[in-house]
Amino acid sequence: MIKTLKFGGTSVGSASNMRQVANIITSEGSTLTVLSAMSGTTDSLVRASDGAVRDSEVDFLRAKYTECIGELLTNKQPSIDKMEEILTVVSSDSTIQSAREAQGELLTTFIFTEHLKERGFKAELLYAPDFMFTDDQEVVVQSKLNTIKNVIEPGTYYVTQGFIATVADGTLGNLGRGGSDYSAALMGVAIGSSEVQIWTDIDGMHTGDPRFVRGTRPIRRMSFEEAAELAYFGAKILHPATVIPCKEAGVDVRLKNTMDPAADGTLISSSDESAMNFHAVAAKDNITVIRISSARMLMAYGFLRKVFEVFEKYKTPIDMITTSEVAVSLTVDKIEHLDKIIQELKEMASVEVEHCNSIVCVVGRIDYDHAGLAARVFKAVENIPIKMISYGASHRSMSLLINSEDKIATLQSLNNFLF
Ligand code: ADP
Ligand code: ASP
Ligand code: MG
Repeated sequence: MIKTLKFGGTSVGSASNMRQVANIITSEGSTLTVLSAMSGTTDSLVRASDGAVRDSEVDFLRAKYTECIGELLTNKQPSIDKMEEILTVVSSDSTIQSAREAQGELLTTFIFTEHLKERGFKAELLYAPDFMFTDDQEVVVQSKLNTIKNVIEPGTYYVTQGFIATVADGTLGNLGRGGSDYSAALMGVAIGSSEVQIWTDIDGMHTGDPRFVRGTRPIRRMSFEEAAELAYFGAKILHPATVIPCKEAGVDVRLKNTMDPAADGTLISSSDESAMNFHAVAAKDNITVIRISSARMLMAYGFLRKVFEVFEKYKTPIDMITTSEVAVSLTVDKIEHLDKIIQELKEMASVEVEHCNSIVCVVGRIDYDHAGLAARVFKAVENIPIKMISYGASHRSMSLLINSEDKIATLQSLNNFLF
């Protein structure tokens, strides 16, 4: 059985955690093991874009990786040499930033593969940019792992980097923060895995974000659609694009805890057996609302098309939308071209803009002919000003727009009331 296991930054964040990962992949029989960079090192590489602090970031990276190599490996020199080679790339002014950010994964996978070999396992390190490609829309367009599929040797542990890829101009780049999950999904599907496992520092998808909410608990099973909505609306445990390739290929995704491998975790699959109810809540910050109103909308057709065309022109996705006869409100999180969008919209309507909002998304099984579900959500947030509501677009989710300052109170109250 072919299996792809991905381990995040904390899971490979120290020598002892790397030993634990090696135990897991060998007992699970992982075919392809996809790793993130050691925790904190991608943040450091991001900061190193600033030439003024680059030297101190390089010192930090050298100290972190040297400690890990020192504790983990007997034959340290190949990893030390690799580290120095990578730190030279990080230090160079001519290294483009997206390539600099990719260096953590390269070093982490190198050290981990050395560890597997020292423990007597047959291990092979694969260079992900040889088979992961993205175009300028930051979408992976090709995953040529199929070639590797044909050379898989039973008994060999293949190790590769999440997050990193060859970008449109042929140089080294990455899929954006948190992108290792997405890498693992694409690779896992490409090599025909029966399951893609995402190993992290928590026992699966929780009912709410444990960084903000007390008393959350893990959810054992959920559908691809629910997981996709939660990830898109802020559940950091999963990169939002992760479930797309798995859903298309019918490959289950399992979320597991590296620190507690015996815990059940969460199984994400196409099965839709869950009882009608709410399952989890997530929140996405930095949301801007654009309120557009025009008397010309009254009894008219074609107005919405004109509005949407403006967003399309500036490649700005819309998240939430509500309409009345003379007004439409919508939300965006990408505000790069906001000024131009507003300017064009003002030619056809009056426009108001509000920043600093959050979308709170409640997912579960919401059948429209079932009375009382929306009422439960409203009851839970009765003391919070609600600025927009989206209900009825998908029987998987319901979204509320609130001021960001009310986010934690909203999440806590929903968690207390719904689960
Ligand atoms: P990794 O480095 O393994 O990719 P991440 O930090 O990206 O790990 O994701 C795991 C973290 O996601 C958890 O430690 C937790 O704080 C956070 N998180 C946010 N929302 C949720 C949720 N609904 N369920 C579980 N974890 C969540
Ligand atoms: N190392 C990258 C990051 O910190 C990718 C990942 O962990 O998924 O964003
Ligand atoms: Mg992550």
